[in-house]
Amino acid sequence: MLNFFEQFPELTAIMSEKEDGSLRIASDEAIRRKNQKNRELFFEKFGIDGGAVVSANLVHGNHVEVVTDAETKIITKTDALITTEKGAFLAITIADCVPVFFYEKEKGIVALAHAGWRGIVGDVLKNTVDGISSLGGNKNDLFVALGPGINECHFEIKADALESFADYHEFITKRDGKMFVDLKSIIKKQLTGLGIKETNIENNETCTFEADNLFSFRRDKTPFVDAMIAIIGLK
Ligand SMILES: [Zn+2]
Repeated sequence: MLNFFEQFPELTAIMSEKEDGSLRIASDEAIRRKNQKNRELFFEKFGIDGGAVVSANLVHGNHVEVVTDAETKIITKTDALITTEKGAFLAITIADCVPVFFYEKEKGIVALAHAGWRGIVGDVLKNTVDGISSLGGNKNDLFVALGPGINECHFEIKADALESFADYHEFITKRDGKMFVDLKSIIKKQLTGLGIKETNIENNETCTFEADNLFSFRRDKTPFVDAMIAIIGLK
């Protein structure tokens, strides 16, 4: 289990590892049941009330949803969740995409965004920060933690994706006739551009593709996408 925001004991901000099994909400029924079992074991192990977990069913889009209670367990077509509810846990799953945790300390707002390349260029992070602001959150009090994702060393794009990165050419590197993108640096540029202090951003530098303890979609190429869970909540 990986921990984030360790300076804030009032928070739970964690991510599972490969040893916890795949925790993805799969469309295949048998895989879904198996993963659900893994989720229950994971919640139990880390003292999370499974009944208070609200998960985003991801589409690599930029839609953000504010969670006002933990009644709806799965929110579809959403890549970021925000809440002010104490005791509610927001969850996404990831395997190469970056989990981005947000905490607005003064107002007690937490958020979690699923930042893959489509979400990143589609402004999912801006929409999340706007959502936090709309709940009265102040950017000066906003802390952000970037979990592990696929780093520039392994995030190759093909020519057809180039257009999507038109605003971010400075983050593309060419090596051996291939193109690689530094997604983490794009995220950091977006966040500081939105007014978040650089000193309030923590970054787990691990590349999922290289980490034996983490799933990586690009490396593993499993038919049903084995994924880790990221969770944030105010205790
Ligand atoms: Zn790498």
